[in-house]
Amino acid sequence: MSLDSLAVGAWLKDFADDIHENADYLTDLDREIGDADHGANMDRGMSAVAALDPSDFASAAGYIKKAGMTLVSTVGGASGPLYGTFFLRVGTAWANVHDAASLGAALRAGLDGIIQRGKASVGDKTLVDALSPALDAFDAHAGEGVAAALAAAATAAAAGRDATSALIAHKGRASYLGERSVGHQDPGATSMTMLIEAARRDLS
Ligand code: ADP
Ligand code: MG
Repeated sequence: MSLDSLAVGAWLKDFADDIHENADYLTDLDREIGDADHGANMDRGMSAVAALDPSDFASAAGYIKKAGMTLVSTVGGASGPLYGTFFLRVGTAWANVHDAASLGAALRAGLDGIIQRGKASVGDKTLVDALSPALDAFDAHAGEGVAAALAAAATAAAAGRDATSALIAHKGRASYLGERSVGHQDPGATSMTMLIEAARRDLS
């Protein structure tokens, strides 16, 4: 397990690559129940994050916080402030990260920030529906170490993402569609699953 700024840099750059490769897919999902910009929004923000050099920062915590500020300042859509808040909170908690339990606590601080800011609950058909079950699964497996916890988190995130199709949106632009949002996978839950899958690849 390595959780220094180089490992975190690998995680965020891997996520940025995934977002870039899937930008059209994410935008297509957002075309169905939103305004067709989620891929473009996330790609703009994560390209700016990928341009940061983790070795310019004294600590991984400082680098993660800068990533959050970069997302807030470069992404106009709802996802920018939400992902930005996630990384600001994770970065603030990162000073205490040294094992699976403390990594889970830092990620949960990020989820709490998203919920505080966006007021979404589980079941509202948002990125919370991928992140929240992922962190529950992480915590349930934290005793087995970071790799096992992240593997469980990635599986749960993907299941949460898939389950958003059947939900009625209650937050964000998709909520304007009401029942017509059913049958479409949430774009934000899709990008959030990519973030957790990248964490499994790079932080284990
Ligand atoms: P916008 O909706 O402003 O166009 P994006 O298209 O980039 O922004 O992001 C849309 C995604 O943001 C949604 O798919 C959903 O997952 C997430 N989202 C929107 N509003 C909220 C909220 N209040 N809480 C949590 N996530 C939200
Ligand atoms: Mg949108």
